[in-house]
Amino acid sequence: MTTLGTPNTKSQTKLMLLGSGELGKEVAIAAQRLGVEVIAVDRYDNAPAMQVAHRSYTIPMQDGQALRDIIETEKPNHIVPEIEAISTDTLLQLEAEGYSVTPTARAAKLTMDREGIRKFVSKDLGIRTSEFAFADNRDEFTEACLRIGFPCVVKPIMSSSGKGQSTIRDQTGMESAWSIAQDGGRTGAGRVIIEGFVDFDYEITLLTLRHKEGTTFVDPIGHRQDDGDYQESWQPQPMTERTLAEAQRMAKTVTDGLGGYGIFGVELFVKGEEVIFSELSPRPHDTGMVTMISQNLSQFALHTRAILGLPIPNIRQYGPAASHVIMGKGDSNSPSFVNVDSALKEEDTDLRLFGKPEIKGERRLGVCLALGDSIEEARDKAERAAGSVTVVL
Ligand code: AMP
Repeated sequence: MTTLGTPNTKSQTKLMLLGSGELGKEVAIAAQRLGVEVIAVDRYDNAPAMQVAHRSYTIPMQDGQALRDIIETEKPNHIVPEIEAISTDTLLQLEAEGYSVTPTARAAKLTMDREGIRKFVSKDLGIRTSEFAFADNRDEFTEACLRIGFPCVVKPIMSSSGKGQSTIRDQTGMESAWSIAQDGGRTGAGRVIIEGFVDFDYEITLLTLRHKEGTTFVDPIGHRQDDGDYQESWQPQPMTERTLAEAQRMAKTVTDGLGGYGIFGVELFVKGEEVIFSELSPRPHDTGMVTMISQNLSQFALHTRAILGLPIPNIRQYGPAASHVIMGKGDSNSPSFVNVDSALKEEDTDLRLFGKPEIKGERRLGVCLALGDSIEEARDKAERAAGSVTVVL
């Protein structure tokens, strides 16, 4: 029996989001709909989820003491990480003291950088990944590239959205790949992963939901990335029965290994009938934004239900659907969106503008969503809609 309280009263059920970006914002909205009190935390003010939360805090989340202070002040029923850059050692201690971390503090720790999850999946669970090696300096890097061979992909171990990532075609590309990785990591220069290039036919995110009554798979989501950054996704990605079964088996093995309740974005490459593990987020995934139009329960609603211990008897999928990003490029602290009306003029389209207050360089500011009679139609519609919005900085 699950009991939920009323926000801002003594019966409240409190959920604290660590990270307040566009994914956290949708989790906050889903939680608000169930009368959950939402506290949003990030390193800057007026972050998207803060705009829809009951309260917010601005702290450096990698500072363990700052994190502990607000958690001890608020005593949330659920601590829900939305990003990787958090003091996960503090989360481990807090969990040992009785706090509940989604899905588990260990999952947050293992996925904090590319190294933990890669070693866990490949070495502990024996699941197929691309070849990989890690390097801390130029010599180790050169040795690793030559050993893995070309092409290979280089990424800072602490990075996302393609930052610091590049593909090396031959020996001449090593120099620039090293510099790109050193400039692009979240915490500045440092350790990198070198991965064998997987010449995949397509890649998917298999959203995998661990909840009180078991594991539920969301229909596979196909996606396209440019330089490692998410551009568009669609659902359902056509797959043979055998490949889908293999993808689900892998996702179940990994998510069971991590444990806890919540949604996991399991990223997989598919080549012929072969499925190769790429990455995992123990939380909603950017490519999963398509579920805001493709199903009755979005990945955010599913995550929230699982966290709160609520049942998920079924997920109703509405047919071919797509999502396409709206990017802003430049510097601004008050972007506006011109021609929004044309983005919504076609049937079965929708729009999310994240409300990010600041752009420095390139930043994802929204997504257009569409349903269609085929995946191609949905993708075209979402792309047209996103293309019709002009970001003015
Ligand atoms: P990641 O940040 O690891 O999810 O990488 C972002 C994107 O870069 C992936 O979704 C792929 O499109 C591409 N990518 C990453 N690693 C590899 C690889 N080893 N081989 C081929 N493409 C890759």
